[in-house]
Amino acid sequence: MHIFDTHCHYNLDPLATNWEAHWSKAQTAGVTHSIIVGTDIESSQMALTQAKSQKQLFASVGIHPGSLEDIFHPEMKPRDIEVILEKLTLKLTTLLQSNPVALGEVGLDYYRLRSKGLKREFLENIQKTMLIIQLNLAKTYNLPVIAHVRDQIDRTEENAYFDFLKIIEKYPPTKFVLHCASGPLAYIEKAIEMGASIGVDGNVTYDSAEHIRKIVALTPSEKLLLETDAPYLAPNQHKGEICEPWMISETAQYLESELTQNLEQIYQNSFSFFDLERNQVQ
Ligand SMILES: [Zn+2]
Repeated sequence: MHIFDTHCHYNLDPLATNWEAHWSKAQTAGVTHSIIVGTDIESSQMALTQAKSQKQLFASVGIHPGSLEDIFHPEMKPRDIEVILEKLTLKLTTLLQSNPVALGEVGLDYYRLRSKGLKREFLENIQKTMLIIQLNLAKTYNLPVIAHVRDQIDRTEENAYFDFLKIIEKYPPTKFVLHCASGPLAYIEKAIEMGASIGVDGNVTYDSAEHIRKIVALTPSEKLLLETDAPYLAPNQHKGEICEPWMISETAQYLESELTQNLEQIYQNSFSFFDLERNQVQ
């Protein structure tokens, strides 16, 4: 079995401290390639540095919606917000010079705002602004987008899922993947119609994940991508533990044996999605 882990955080703790050992262990479990995904400027820079050191590792740079609450505060003056947005754009532009293979993870996450009791309206607006800025950068640099979108699934008003689709409609990226896809099936169907690929993670193996399995079932096989999202979302046998990148092999086995998915097809999808020549990088 060979696996392309299209979403992994070797750049985040606790993996970052001994990421090379984690990468070696993942390789013995069948992982041949991986995309290291940035969540803020610092982790994006780290992803680029790590990717430079290994031929089969690639970087994605971007600012995760969840990182914004550490940068912006509701009491900031509009001019201060503008200045910070300009600086972030400039820093991203510098990172984009180092040839990442994707832009992300970027998106909308209202779920966290709710659960943490944060000022919703303010942060939702900043998330939307930052998403649009980054979609424009993806377009300029002709990069696929790794999207993180999350909300309460039953929340119909101002739902992050449908807000995301509205923005994507207006600023369409060349390609995008719904990383760790969740949300109403109507949203998933619409996103696939708009060209989305669907990222599947270890949580598909949970007993309670009937909804995610429905998402997988309605996705055309050429649109599926496999991800660990390590250190998060360990598969069922390791639920509650730190997710280590090698554990993706258990998710892959589950997809093949329980959900009758074709792993070779999913492997191939990864190379086409990120515009990588399979032979060139092996
Ligand atoms: Zn992630």
